[in-house]
Amino acid sequence: MSAEDTVKVDAIVVGGGPGGLAAALTMAQGGLEVILVERGEYAGSKNVGGLFYGTILNQLIPDAFKQAPIERTVSKRSITYLGDGTHMSLTFGADAWSQPPYNNTYVVHRAQFDRWLASQVEEAGATLLEGMVVDGLIYEGEGAGRKAVGVQLRGDEAFYADVIVLADGANCLVSEKVREELAMPGGKIKQEYAVGVKEIISLPKETIEARFNLKDNEGVAYDFLGVPFEGLIGGGFIYTAKDSIHLGSVARIESLVESGFTPSGLNDRFKQHPAVSRLIDGGELLEYSGHMLPEGGYDAIGSLTANGVMIVGDAAGLLNMSLYKEGTNHAMESGMYAGQAAVAAKEKKDYSRSGLALYEEKLAEGIALKDVKKYKDLPDILTSAPELLSLYPKKINQLMVDYFTVNAEPKAVTQKAAMKNFMKDMSKIKLLRNAFKARKLM
Ligand SMILES: Cc1cc2nc3c(=O)[nH]c(=O)nc-3n(C[C@H](O)[C@H](O)[C@H](O)COP(=O)(O)OP(=O)(O)OC[C@H]3O[C@@H](n4cnc5c(N)ncnc54)[C@H](O)[C@@H]3O)c2cc1C
Repeated sequence: MSAEDTVKVDAIVVGGGPGGLAAALTMAQGGLEVILVERGEYAGSKNVGGLFYGTILNQLIPDAFKQAPIERTVSKRSITYLGDGTHMSLTFGADAWSQPPYNNTYVVHRAQFDRWLASQVEEAGATLLEGMVVDGLIYEGEGAGRKAVGVQLRGDEAFYADVIVLADGANCLVSEKVREELAMPGGKIKQEYAVGVKEIISLPKETIEARFNLKDNEGVAYDFLGVPFEGLIGGGFIYTAKDSIHLGSVARIESLVESGFTPSGLNDRFKQHPAVSRLIDGGELLEYSGHMLPEGGYDAIGSLTANGVMIVGDAAGLLNMSLYKEGTNHAMESGMYAGQAAVAAKEKKDYSRSGLALYEEKLAEGIALKDVKKYKDLPDILTSAPELLSLYPKKINQLMVDYFTVNAEPKAVTQKAAMKNFMKDMSKIKLLRNAFKARKLM
């Protein structure tokens, strides 16, 4: 191929999820010539949907929530413990969450949302190449000076750039290869993964609003733990969209293997719990997908910058797996910082690791990394104190059921029996120790 045939731009982004799209948008807004390569038929085509926190989106595109394809705004949340034939919920909300910007919490169909965001990226001047797979990067130089200079697409085609942003998601085969090639230091621990299953179940709008007690366009986010997930590090969720429900479950891979459940088997078990099945009763399955999630937390995050390269989003391990389940917003925050670092690198004409250092500096000052750090002990805590997800909520649930059971006994007798049942099989010392650990999960 002659030099004239070579396509060279300022920046190439691998992956058209929220991380890659935010990076491409920031760089295009900053005047860089950008190509984004997405292997799916279109951005978002490989994703299903869920809860979207919009703080970064609303920074990148002011008042984006007014034009983005949002299914419902989330006006209340609920945490439900599922027992054996019992259930217990804590539901909360605020009137302010029904007013713009709706607590920055929205339910979106990723297929529509990512596609819309991709259209904003194109409007800002970036070129989207969809339906194309990046097989690996192209390198130049040796030793400490070795750098990435382009991407090799499946087939013969190659594109060149001064900087490449890797946003290839949790199953990040390209990023992993680049880490090896450019000897990028890993985290303190190996990355660990969970696997998640998501379904979109169709139900009439009026049924959803009546069943979940919602006004027009308001939505609810439910998190579930308990008996369907017993013995596993995992849980389930339901988010209401306009005329469908997003339902799914997530569990740490090693705990799934130990339990013998398949991801879909676990999800079926979750759906069959009476407190869940009545929420989706009469619904029709529209879409189903399975995905991995990086769950190693802060200690699994390695270096994210090398000569000519930055890694963002799930590929960087920036998911907050606490009750917030914040992945898309973190991916966008890291993508935005990587984009800003690329714009600054162009001004300095320095795309080396030190020329791109601004990315990790901004990340360290930002919110995503601080939040991932706050929950850095979550994987260990859940492994060392499985009672937090099973025994204790089960006991509290039983206590409430026993307390409110109406029978021919005086209340004092019922309540004493309820307390006795609650304390049975409970070690007070362990309870105290675990209460201390649980503070770190909040
Ligand atoms: C079951 C489940 C539920 C979740 N629920 C939520 C939730 O409610 N809220 C939330 O904030 N987060 C949630 N997440 C996490 C969220 O989906 C991710 O954190 C987020 O999508 C990460 O964005 P990303 O851009 O880094 O990666 P992705 O969104 O995974 O995008 C990566 C993109 O790269 C493309 N790609 C990969 N390899 C190549 C290649 N070689 N060439 C070209 N393109 C490539 C892929 O096709 C994909 O489009 C959930 C995840 C799962 C699995």
